[in-house]
This record gives sequence, structure tokens and C-alpha cells, in this order.
Amino acid sequence: MNSSNSAIRGSRVGAGPSGEKDTGFQAERIQRTYYCFNNHSFSPLFAASAEVEELPTELDCPHCGLPAGLDKDNPPQIAKHEPYKTHLAYVKERRTEAEAKALLDEAVAAVRERRERLLAEAKAEIKKNTKANKRSA
Ligand SMILES: [Zn+2]
Repeated sequence: MNSSNSAIRGSRVGAGPSGEKDTGFQAERIQRTYYCFNNHSFSPLFAASAEVEELPTELDCPHCGLPAGLDKDNPPQIAKHEPYKTHLAYVKERRTEAEAKALLDEAVAAVRERRERLLAEAKAEIKKNTKANKRSA
């Protein structure tokens, strides 16, 4: 799957807190593979000068944005990251709010409409019954 990484060759891989200078000198790299809950895997390269302990144990999956960990059989669960909200989550939340308000407005309008229709129907019914009563009388 490394061939798919060629598109990002021009940008710095493993840009991080190591403060390594981008001199074009190809330093040794550590490649680690991360796995997300959706069975995606990706293998970013880290500067070999970094201590293994310094390397992140979790990264956001570039495919789906979920946290990805090093244990293939036990990827990070989304539930563990409850306080973390993606921008999309916020957008969805806002939209739901707006949708709820729209639905409420719609419901109120529908009730009002139905009430008026029922009232009109009742009036028509009364009129009809009055006529019928007159006819039968
Ligand atoms: Zn993923």
C-alpha cells in the first residue's frame, strides 16, 4: 500500500516535534503501522532520531478520521474518545438543532392548519345538518 503514499512525497513526512531540519538529507525513518476501527491501516514514517516512546500510540486515520492505534486486533474504540468531537459532529449537532426547530415549526403549523380545517369542516357540517334538519322537519 506504500505506493499510494507517493502523492505526499513532496511534503514532509513525520513533521513533528523533533525539530528536524528539512535539508533534503534523507534521515533514517521508522515506519509504524496504525490500525483504525474500520480496518484501515496506514504506515507513516517517523524520524529515526525520535525515541520510540515519543512516537504517538494513536493517530487519526486519514481514511475515516477515527483514532488508529498500533494493535491491529484491538484498535481504539470510538467510545473511549467521547469528549472528543470532530468538526463534523458539531455541524451535525447544529443541524439537528435546526432541524428540530424546523420540525417543531412544521408541527405547530400543521396543528394550526388542521385545527382551522376541522373548524371549517365543523362549520360546514353544522350548516349541512341544519339544512338536513330543515329538510326532514
Ligand atoms: Zn479508518
